[in-house]
Amino acid sequence: MSGISIEAEKGKDIGGTVEDAVGTVGTGGSDLSTASDGVRSGKTNTLKLVSGLTLLVSKFKVKHEDIWSDRDKMYAGGMEDIFEDITIKVVDPGPYSETGVFKDGVLDWSRVLTGDRVDLLVQNRIKSYRHGNEYWFDHVCPKCQAAQDDTFVDLLKLKRRELSADSRAKLISGGPFVADLMDADGGAKFLMQTGADERKLMDMERNGQIDKGKKSAELIIRVKSIDGIAPERLVPYIREDMTSDDACDLRNKMDEVDCGIDTSVFHKCWSCKSQYWADVPFDQGFLSPQREIAKRRKAMHAEEGV
Ligand SMILES: [Zn+2]
Repeated sequence: MSGISIEAEKGKDIGGTVEDAVGTVGTGGSDLSTASDGVRSGKTNTLKLVSGLTLLVSKFKVKHEDIWSDRDKMYAGGMEDIFEDITIKVVDPGPYSETGVFKDGVLDWSRVLTGDRVDLLVQNRIKSYRHGNEYWFDHVCPKCQAAQDDTFVDLLKLKRRELSADSRAKLISGGPFVADLMDADGGAKFLMQTGADERKLMDMERNGQIDKGKKSAELIIRVKSIDGIAPERLVPYIREDMTSDDACDLRNKMDEVDCGIDTSVFHKCWSCKSQYWADVPFDQGFLSPQREIAKRRKAMHAEEGV
């Protein structure tokens, strides 16, 4: 689930935090209007996502935890299964009403933008659990490799960027974005990342075609063509020949047009004290938060003076 690292610019009307979004619809953790539909109040919420897609969704269930923690099921499309299962009703299709993303009236989650998918995960996580905005995760300091267990992030504070009018128009037209590259001697065409791209990334990692976490991965997934490069040479070109300068320009352009949630938090290493942006992972604890257990663990660490 890469490529969501978006730095929202303060003051822009398309920006804000997850807290702003969660506060606008379904405030209070439930949508009373659903009570008349036979759905128990408190178990469902209406969530408006970064593209404008608005859904009535159910809280996460134990069966979703089971899929989430099963690597094989996730590889077999578990993410789409979870999204389909929690979606009770499409309240507003947003731009997707014009993209042909509905199949027989059902949202084709593989064609939904990664920005929306991540937004849905984060917002519904917040709505699904008591203190659902509090998330502890483990990671490793990139500088000294020291374990940073129980790093805390308040999901409500994550920056959020809505789909811009320009990007919305591109999404509807299906047209690619173009980044001018200096060293490739031409332009690169790319699209916003979708569920299908996330799937392709998983498949390529599993088949050994790309290494997990490599910087080239997002470019390989999203770039559809580069002027002067034959289609069959595209992946080898990005992996072996593309200059870092071109890659920087490309990433900058992607960031400019993307929507989604910036899933990075500023962190100071408990060991070497260096400061860096840690990427919030969507790991096991995301769908089965254990607040009390996490608090105890945190207290234990505090006693150890970590
Ligand atoms: Zn460190």
